[in-house]
Amino acid sequence: MNKVAFITGATRGIGKQIAMVLAENGYDIALNYRTENDNLRETIKEIESKNVKCLAVKGDVSSYENCETFVSQIINKFGKIDVLVNNAGITKDTLLMRMKKEDFEDVIDVNLVGTFNVTKNVISHMMKARSGRIINISSVVGVSGNAGQTNYAASKAGIIGFTKSLAKEVASRGILVNAVAPGFIETQMTDVLKDEIKEKIAETIPLKRMGTATDVANVVKFLASDDSSYITGQVINIDGGMLM
Ligand code: NAP
Repeated sequence: MNKVAFITGATRGIGKQIAMVLAENGYDIALNYRTENDNLRETIKEIESKNVKCLAVKGDVSSYENCETFVSQIINKFGKIDVLVNNAGITKDTLLMRMKKEDFEDVIDVNLVGTFNVTKNVISHMMKARSGRIINISSVVGVSGNAGQTNYAASKAGIIGFTKSLAKEVASRGILVNAVAPGFIETQMTDVLKDEIKEKIAETIPLKRMGTATDVANVVKFLASDDSSYITGQVINIDGGMLM
């Protein structure tokens, strides 16, 4: 029986690549999406071409009710969730002076409360199974801070505290909880930046390039695998050396 991995926000970018890499490694995939579009249909097709099962569940991670519904849909189909990847995330960047209350709340609601909502609905199934892996997608800015991202950095720092606390709560049940903190990764999220700004940022990175979604997905694959069975409560930077 294949292991089952559930990835939120998995129809593009880092989430999609995590789903693809885990599918290539024989996991059945449950993926969450918010918007029904060609990206979703293409992602399902690509996953099924790896000869594994794929279930797509609709819902907004910031809604607790949506999370309750889609987690039970996954359990009904697969009977278990071995690996949870909390990936769905948004940015609403601006300086605090200009930031509206809603910009702050929206980012916290999706990135941090969303991570709680999904994990809270998955954890009881992992507790019963006495095993599981939870991998939360944080960010280097959750560690370093970043001007223009008080909302996003607070949400990603919150994810780190959440990860370490939960890792302590569930270690005795055989559930390992870790976070990855990507640096500057080429996706639609960073596409909004002008090329010259991207080049300038890349110059400041020791490895002199932006990361790819595959750079992140390969570390998530490791954290989901038996090769990482003595690692919990950690935050792994995937940033080309940006933060060292
Ligand atoms: P992306 O291309 O913008 O993709 C984000 C995904 O999250 C989309 O599939 C989006 O779905 C989904 N999503 C957003 N809000 C959602 C919600 N409320 N409920 C369910 N799904 C939702 O971003 P990405 O670059 O791949 O980022 C993925 C994760 O990595 C995020 O947590 C991000 O903060 C983190 N990260 C990214 C970078 C980077 O440089 N790119 C660096 C550090 C950390 P829709 O299509 O419906 O919007």
